[in-house]
Amino acid sequence: MYPLADIISSSDIVHILQHVHAGIAIVDRNGTLLSWNSIFNTSLKNQSDVKNLGDLFPTREREWLQIKIAGRVEEQWVGEFPLHERMPPVLCECKLLPLSNEYMAFIVEHIETQNTLLELVDKLNRQVRLFQVESEHSKKIARNKQIELESVIAQANEVAQTDALTILLNRRAIVRELQDEVIRAERYGTMLSVSILDVDHFKGINDTYGHTVGDEVLRLVAEGLRDGIRSPDIVGRYGGEEFIIILPNSDANAASEQAARLCKQINESPLQAKGHAIQVTFSIGVAQLRHGKDTWDILLNRADTAMYDAKSRGRNCWVVAE
Ligand code: GH3
Ligand code: MG
Ligand code: MG
Repeated sequence: MYPLADIISSSDIVHILQHVHAGIAIVDRNGTLLSWNSIFNTSLKNQSDVKNLGDLFPTREREWLQIKIAGRVEEQWVGEFPLHERMPPVLCECKLLPLSNEYMAFIVEHIETQNTLLELVDKLNRQVRLFQVESEHSKKIARNKQIELESVIAQANEVAQTDALTILLNRRAIVRELQDEVIRAERYGTMLSVSILDVDHFKGINDTYGHTVGDEVLRLVAEGLRDGIRSPDIVGRYGGEEFIIILPNSDANAASEQAARLCKQINESPLQAKGHAIQVTFSIGVAQLRHGKDTWDILLNRADTAMYDAKSRGRNCWVVAE
């Protein structure tokens, strides 16, 4: 057997190309139609203005085709193509072949199909389109769900850090703040003070007016503390009727000034709790961080001890830790 190229002359090839059942066209890198055989010519018969191979394809496929042609990519696919004169596009096997020169050959051959197969292809195409629409829809839902979830998580985090009665930071959150502030102060060598504030004779308030009024007093005290401190100070509820105030960049003098102010403010007028005017006082213990010596819990213990000193000195006062 001889290789085809050896026994067919180029003029014979032209002759043969005119007789095969496949449409053959040669295009340049832009897809411009340069030459074609008689079968392909029937595609162009009723479309005299066609200059580019892409014009014979549905709009949605043109960009894809252009990329393949420009990149000289060998490609084979099944698609619709107007191979017969005055007929709607038919299902064809299409091929793009890069030639040894700069051009590409496009070969298109009608696939003989039964109507049922065509219908099946059509149905599958419709399903693919439907699936694409649905998947876009589910992506949108998933995105919304993600946003919802993130906001729920954010709310949950906030709830986990918040004391339900006073809406201040709860014990865990204020202790974590203190731990962070101690680390920061040690790292940058900045000052840090902490105060523990305890409501005096609070049990008596509960006993006299009831727990609900006691709760209201705690809420009002918390409000007063929130308003009474200045940024960047942080206040939280440490437990029952005890509160912690963290004073970053502040020494014991600054913390004492604040303690004095808070004691003075609460003394100025009784709290109005559910129709009862209740006079409240505080005992406050203040401690300043000793760098290289205090951990967060030692610092807190020193403030606590100072607070008990204030109790033993008669309450309604503040004491600075040694
Ligand atoms: P002291 O001046 O020595 O601090 O006296 P105190 O009565 O304030 O101290 P004590 O620790 O004996 O009592 C604190 C009370 O606070 C006891 C507890 O029942 C009450 N308590 C703790 N948490 C709450 C709360 O959430 N609501 C109310 N209403 N009372 C609380
Ligand atoms: Mg107490
Ligand atoms: Mg108390």
